[in-house]
Amino acid sequence: MLKFKPYRIVVNGSNEDDEAYEWWKSSGSDPAKRPKNMDDMELRRHPFFSPRHALYEAMVYLRLLKISRYRAGQLVLAASQQLSADIYINPPGMRDAVIGMDNESGIRLAICPASAASARPSNQYLKNSRVRFMPYLTESCDQSDSKYADDSTLLHELVHGVRPRQFEKLKPQTTNDHWTDLEEFFAVMIENIYMSERGDREVRGGHQAGANTLPATRTASYQFMEDQTNYQRVKDALKREKLAQELAKLDDIPFNPFAEFNRAKRDLRSI
Ligand SMILES: [Zn+2]
Repeated sequence: MLKFKPYRIVVNGSNEDDEAYEWWKSSGSDPAKRPKNMDDMELRRHPFFSPRHALYEAMVYLRLLKISRYRAGQLVLAASQQLSADIYINPPGMRDAVIGMDNESGIRLAICPASAASARPSNQYLKNSRVRFMPYLTESCDQSDSKYADDSTLLHELVHGVRPRQFEKLKPQTTNDHWTDLEEFFAVMIENIYMSERGDREVRGGHQAGANTLPATRTASYQFMEDQTNYQRVKDALKREKLAQELAKLDDIPFNPFAEFNRAKRDLRSI
């Protein structure tokens, strides 16, 4: 296990819980024999720690280091310091695939970066937020999955994980559009600001797979905010989230709807 100091972030390459779960499934799923404390297994070192676990931890650590080189990234990492317990980054496995099962996708059998990235923010039953993230492709994964092994995907999941209370409030608020819900809208906004700061040419124009991309320019940022729905969602986020208020100060990042909102306000005042 690696602690990413000075933040409250722990990288744990152990997939002991998934192994225990798979073993139980393949040996008849007797409810009486169901492994106990699988959530706790994610918080401890694997009893047979191997180079495979070490490789995972090193790769995730490198992604975190990259995130920490950008100001938008630093703000997300710093938000972890407000948590009452460490947030864990774990490799996804079969058990996670079942927890994350929904009617649309069903159980995914291959553990690949695209289907793996997810967050389980802390709640009354779960003390530590968890993020599942796969920093590399495994054998059966499609090459197109490699973009989900990117640091921007890890950053996105961290946005969910470091704001457990907001997540709980916003996740049920579906938007009935390609942003899925207000929580995803917010997470993608921050991912976009990060990508724009990093120098990407394009950012995400939605949350759902197949959503269009937008140019990572100040013009596109301005146009994005001309849409009344986007404008209102950004305005609400600024009222609600300290993270949004901090990001709004990064005025030099081309695609930054939070900064855009403040600029529009200033322009109105100067009339
Ligand atoms: Zn998300």
